[in-house]
Amino acid sequence: MPKEMIKAIVLAGGSGRRMGGNCKKQYMLLAGRPILYYSLQTFQDSCVDEIILVTNEAEYCRTELVHKYNLDKVTKIVPGGQERWNSVYSGLLAAEPCSYILIHDGARPMLTQTMIEDSVTAVRTYSACVIGMPVKDTIKIADDEKFAVQTPPRETLWQIQTPQSFSYPLIVQAYQKILEQHPRGITDDAMVIEYAMHTKVKLIQGSYRNIKITTPEDIVIAEAMMHIQLE
Ligand code: C5P
Repeated sequence: MPKEMIKAIVLAGGSGRRMGGNCKKQYMLLAGRPILYYSLQTFQDSCVDEIILVTNEAEYCRTELVHKYNLDKVTKIVPGGQERWNSVYSGLLAAEPCSYILIHDGARPMLTQTMIEDSVTAVRTYSACVIGMPVKDTIKIADDEKFAVQTPPRETLWQIQTPQSFSYPLIVQAYQKILEQHPRGITDDAMVIEYAMHTKVKLIQGSYRNIKITTPEDIVIAEAMMHIQLE
């Protein structure tokens, strides 16, 4: 392996059920191109050496994305699993050999070069870091009957996005430990490090624009944001 190999896993193995309709959300069009195109192109233009694409639509992705847009950093396309973490684990196995891995939701098209560069800089120092933003709203913890039981201090709360970046041996070891315990409710990769390892996960400020396309109105919001330059 060359001195330092940085790879990205782009996740598109979900069913996109919350979007409704027949087309999976990651392939719906945003400003005329599939949502998944945008993060693949941003990684293609970045310092990342290779991209592992996790999808159950390999033929479509090869023709309509990889070949059509010359995304030659996409070196492997592997099938997704039942839960997000199953998809991440198949991406991790396909990424070897690797020094650092950036794991990104293909449903987040607003990824920027700054987010990638900040992630790479931080992961070299901290071994584990995630992009996120301080929450704007007050957040409450609810009980089973939907009564508020606790209000964590807002200044301690962050909403977590992707990329989530790790030293490759660290995240593989963490996933292997967690897999032995038949995990449930794993919604991001930082949780795997928190449960399985002693390493602290560094939070890096990203952007409120880095939304995950989940429901139909998110497409309208993303298209509107694409037309507004803030910085
Ligand atoms: O379901 P959720 O919105 O949390 O998914 C986040 C990302 O993980 C999406 O890009 C989705 O395609 C991906 N995913 C996956 N495999 C799954 C579930 C989600 O690759 N089984």
